[in-house]
Amino acid sequence: MSSYTIRTFGDPVLKQRAAPITDIDGSLVRLADDMVQTMYDAPGLGLAAPQVGIQKRLFVYDLNDGKGPKTLVNPTISEHRGEWEYEEGCLSVPGLHFLIVRPKEVHLTGYDLDGNEVSIEADELEARLFQHELDHLDGTLLLEHLDDAQRKSALRALRGRVLNQAT
Ligand code: ZN
Repeated sequence: MSSYTIRTFGDPVLKQRAAPITDIDGSLVRLADDMVQTMYDAPGLGLAAPQVGIQKRLFVYDLNDGKGPKTLVNPTISEHRGEWEYEEGCLSVPGLHFLIVRPKEVHLTGYDLDGNEVSIEADELEARLFQHELDHLDGTLLLEHLDDAQRKSALRALRGRVLNQAT
């Protein structure tokens, strides 16, 4: 297994909509393995393919619940219920966390790496992770879920970081 470099805020690949996967083959399995390695190295709970520059609808995750890493291919969320507030972060926006309200429960369907259909009723942290990773597949960062005050201070922090890198 090898590890990818995680793309961060400002990289245009993070704003593009990823394409559906048509074949689950050996190269896709290798991609998922390398993404899992990258996620553990970071470390993070989830990682979507666009975050490593790959425009495919796939993400990996591990909620540290002892069930090991999982991969979801062509995931979609069909239902959501309730509201849940959570301090959310993103490996592509390193070092910043934001209190964000999103639906508490979601129903996700998709495929695993064996091509089997998967149907998951998720709530709280798992539901939040699914919504966050789905956003990445649609080219959306968590910054788009912030209120005006949060967004202003986030952009100030991110701009300061870009300037520091340039000097
Ligand atoms: Zn993220």
